Amino acid sequence: MRTVISLPDLRSARRSMTGTVGLVPTMGYLHEGHLSLIRRAREECEWVAVSIFVNPTQFGPKEDLAKYPRDLERDIKLIEPYTDLLWTPMPEIMYPEGYQTWVEVEAVTRPLEGAMRPGHFRGVTTVVAKLFNGVQPDRAYFGQKDAQQAAVIRQMVRDLNFPVEIVVCPIVREPDGLALSSRNVYLDTQQRRAATVLSRSLREAKEAYDSGERDAGMLRQIMKDVLASEPLAEVQYVSCANYETLEELDTVDGKALLSMAVFIGKTRLIDNLVLE
Ligand code: AMP
Repeated sequence: MRTVISLPDLRSARRSMTGTVGLVPTMGYLHEGHLSLIRRAREECEWVAVSIFVNPTQFGPKEDLAKYPRDLERDIKLIEPYTDLLWTPMPEIMYPEGYQTWVEVEAVTRPLEGAMRPGHFRGVTTVVAKLFNGVQPDRAYFGQKDAQQAAVIRQMVRDLNFPVEIVVCPIVREPDGLALSSRNVYLDTQQRRAATVLSRSLREAKEAYDSGERDAGMLRQIMKDVLASEPLAEVQYVSCANYETLEELDTVDGKALLSMAVFIGKTRLIDNLVLE
């Protein structure tokens, strides 16, 4: 595995890769969720590139940028067996003085995460566009864990004609259902136990759907009721939306996304499940 930081070094490494290149963009502090994307890229591409960059522009002023967990040495050991190229740019490289260009996707960024985290997706789409321009991958791998992010990136790629195929991989979970996240390290023992309420609420709504429930309001209510049963959980939003547009549904009559953001203490967790 070759590690590069600067754009000239990245370009020179990229030039030596002939054949399909898969990119896995990450913010580091890697876990099995990230590794599932990297292994999938390994299976499908001749070259695997991983980026690790805690992108400051996607964090709100009150969010956890400064304390976002980082451990590059550990990350390197984890990805080395599957990765050809690691790019770890620094904020000064991505956003040098005088930086003034942004990529903004419209409607699909407005609800859910976009409503709760103003400016978040502008930061995400801008950095992903820059990662794509830097690495020039044939395919890029994202997790269904960040369902709206995946929808926003798909829209950006379509709208701006990026010659990149977007591959979205399933959510990797702990045995008790908690979706893996770098932010799970913020949870203490009691909070960690409480955090299983997110996946439980999704499972109950899914069971109702499987038994024939198609009223989106009812499915949202089932999730809210389960979440309300956990005293440590403070719900930010609960949604049953169209899978592509992310608009809230009255009735589920096609592919739909159940999703939520919930605070457990100070830690904000998200989770989701697709209804097909
Ligand atoms: P992050 O480092 O949090 O920006 O995540 C990098 C990529 O890994 C994103 O595409 C995430 O959706 C994906 N990812 C994070 N957690 C999981 C998970 N539990 N299962 C699958 N993919 C994940």
